[in-house]
This record gives sequence, C-alpha cells and structure tokens, in this order.
Amino acid sequence: MDKIIVNCAECEPFITANHRLLLEHGASVINGVKILLKALGVRTAFIAVEDNKMDAVEKLEELLGDSRMISVKVMKTKYPQGDERQLVYALTGEEIPAGKLPADVGCVIFNAETCAAIYKAFSTGMPSVSRVVTVDGDCIRRPKNLLVPVGTSASDLIAFCGGLCRPPKKLVNGGPMMGAAQWDPEMPVTKSTSAVLVFSARFGRKNVAKPACIRCGRCVNHCPMHLMPMYIAQFSKIGDLKRAEEYGAMSCVECGSCSYNCPGGVEIVQHIRVAKAAIKTEKARIASLNALK
Ligand code: SF4
Ligand code: SF4
Repeated sequence: MDKIIVNCAECEPFITANHRLLLEHGASVINGVKILLKALGVRTAFIAVEDNKMDAVEKLEELLGDSRMISVKVMKTKYPQGDERQLVYALTGEEIPAGKLPADVGCVIFNAETCAAIYKAFSTGMPSVSRVVTVDGDCIRRPKNLLVPVGTSASDLIAFCGGLCRPPKKLVNGGPMMGAAQWDPEMPVTKSTSAVLVFSARFGRKNVAKPACIRCGRCVNHCPMHLMPMYIAQFSKIGDLKRAEEYGAMSCVECGSCSYNCPGGVEIVQHIRVAKAAIKTEKARIASLNALK
C-alpha cells in the first residue's frame, strides 16, 4: 500500500454533506488522515475534491500549509467521479482490473466522514454516533445539511427543515442516482446515510407504459465501466446468468447512468442488480457444496 485517497468527490446531484464537512470540520478530516498515515505506515495521501468545491479546496490548502505527505487533488466535476475505480484512475492514471480492488494497485480509499470520525474517536474516545446528512429535494421547504445522531428518523429531519412544500412522490435514502427509494418516513439515519431527499412527481423519469430496448446504444455510451448494459439486462431478464457474467455484470458499479439515459424506459440497472445478486448466490452455493466435499 503506498497511497491513501480521501474520497470527497460527492458526485451525485443534491448531496453536499461532504462539502459542508470540509468547510466546517476540515481540520478534523486532515487530522484523521494523519492518524491513518501513521497507522498504515503510508507516506502519501491525496484528498480528492471536485472542482465545484473550490472554497473547500482553499480551506484545506490553508489548513495543510506546506505539508509534504498530504495534498489536495482537484478533479473534474462529473458523475460518477466518486466511484473508486474512476477516482483511482483520475488521480493515478491506473486502471483497476476487473475483479480487483484499489489495494491491488497500491491505494486505500476512505471518505471524509470516516477520517473525521477516526480523529474524533482518537481525540475524545467517542465512537461514531452522528453524521452529516443532506436534507434536500424539491419538496423540502428549507433544505439543509444537518449533523444528526445515528437513528434520527427521516420524518424528524424533514420537520426540522420546515416540512414539505408540495405533495411528495418519492423519499430517497442517499443520492438520486444510487440511493434507495423508501416507503417509510420513519426510516432511521444510519452511518452510511449521506442524504434524505424528497421529490415531487415533477422529478424523475416519466413512466414508459411498455419499456423496450430500441437499440439506440445510449447506455453503452454512458457506461463508465465500458460495459454493454442492454445485453446484461436482457440476459438477466431471461435468467441467463452465465452470459450476464460473461458480459461483465459483476463489474457494474450500479451508477444508474444507463437507466437514466435510456429512452426506452428500461430499468437496466435493476435487471443488472438482480443478475449480480443471483450470480453471487450461485457462487456461494457452489463454494459451500465444495466445502462439504
Ligand atoms: S439505452 Fe435503452 S433503448 Fe438504448 S440501447 Fe440501451 S437499453 Fe436499449
Ligand atoms: S449501472 Fe449501468 S452505466 Fe453504471 S456501471 Fe452499471 S451498466 Fe454501466
């Protein structure tokens, strides 16, 4: 391992929790990185920030002074820049081979929230019991970033932000691209909840009555992993897991760019998720059978 990368890309629309954390607790993030450098015996750390957060970059550079081990790297703002493969490529020019991890190319990635939590645990003994959450979406009356205890319900966060200003259609835990729709407004904040978003019917894709692939190729053009999403989705639909895997289903990072850009209304990423889960289950089944032999 020769590099620590602190992922502050925060590439999904609406989410600004990391941005606020860097502006208000940048010193905690940097101190967390120093602890990690010492603990892992690594001499280089990059704090990766997109170029739409230049105020945070200035703040971090001011705090870092002439540090030779930690530096701020400014990256282009694009989606999904926060994915670890895109991040490592943008910072080092190295491609992580399919099935491998950042550690295989000498990098270990932490997010800013984790670094700040590590510093807090070291300096106060307090474990991670709170986090910064973005509360936003066109239904939220006064969008905010809030530092809240883990376990706080989405309904309490929404009420604290002035409640809803129009009828909601969807509550999302996380970003609009990779987050998960929720049915219960009592959904609790967990350590991985970066955002609680509430959208009206104006947002999101129009429902297509009969989703169908028209072979336009847009999903291929927009896939950051250079996959052919329409084929993987089709193999998933017919249960052909072998071919779905051959076409790289397990390399899909579930960024949702294919579904977002599909004019045929095909829920491509959902089909790919189904295939990935089935492939994993099948591999686990075979491994347990082999273990019994
Ligand atoms: S974007 Fe949609 S319609 Fe176009 S090729 Fe991909 S799956 Fe088919
Ligand atoms: S979700 Fe779609 S665009 Fe994103 S990596 Fe997977 S196949 Fe490619």
